[in-house]
Amino acid sequence: MTVRPIAKAVKGMPTSDGAGVRLTRLLGTPEAQNFDPFLMLDHFDSAEASDYIAGFPDHPHRGFETVTYMLEGKMRHRDNTGREGLIETGGIQWMRAGRGIIHSELPEQTEGRMRGFQLWVNLPSRLKMSEPGYQEFDADKIPVETREGGVTVKVVTGKTARGARGPVEDSAIDPIYFDVTAPAGAVFEEPLSADHAAMIAIYEGEVKVEGRTVAALGAAFLGFGDTVRIEATRDARFLLLAGKPIREPVVQYGPFVMNTREEIIQAVNDFQAGRF
Ligand code: MN
Repeated sequence: MTVRPIAKAVKGMPTSDGAGVRLTRLLGTPEAQNFDPFLMLDHFDSAEASDYIAGFPDHPHRGFETVTYMLEGKMRHRDNTGREGLIETGGIQWMRAGRGIIHSELPEQTEGRMRGFQLWVNLPSRLKMSEPGYQEFDADKIPVETREGGVTVKVVTGKTARGARGPVEDSAIDPIYFDVTAPAGAVFEEPLSADHAAMIAIYEGEVKVEGRTVAALGAAFLGFGDTVRIEATRDARFLLLAGKPIREPVVQYGPFVMNTREEIIQAVNDFQAGRF
């Protein structure tokens, strides 16, 4: 057994996006540009409506997937095909933008706390121009595994060594998306395929990995090994995210993520010409 060490740790970067939503960017910053197969990770958390109320009005995506996980609050999405839905507390939306989608993501609340994550997952070239699609699950469809020491694991996608399996299916990167709660002193340990890239995003408390400490709000990108071992040094909550690296060139222009500059120019042209 080889426990994965921390290869790199970063603090979240406060920023804003959409029409002025305050958030903390954990991946997709100058310090941590991307982590194949992941492109970006944002955490939003505020009880002040002015921090989130403007939401994310109509905007396009092409070439990757957006994953919205609501810890608290309600977000409504609508796209240019007429599809719409509500992501509520504990729910997940795994959206494949593929060849292109234009959508809005707007809070369905004017007060109270809104808290959650948006992760961007890259697609391999063979799927970048695929049909858009959604996988959406409410909180009651996401298994919660209870472990010794008061550790709980919400399994959004992937399978734990103890058998819990998340509802989201994604063949492209074989993803792991676990939301772990661990009281101070507890240890979360999980075997994880050595060919997966793995990271953790700490959003409450503090953890220690192979002697190195990371506190909220921070991210740690893990090095080589076949096991993840995370000790909560304070009451902690964190995401464990893992997937098979795609190992292709990444050319990103805002919400378009392709393999070449020519494909980006095509994406901009297609969007401007109304071909999404
Ligand atoms: Mn979006």
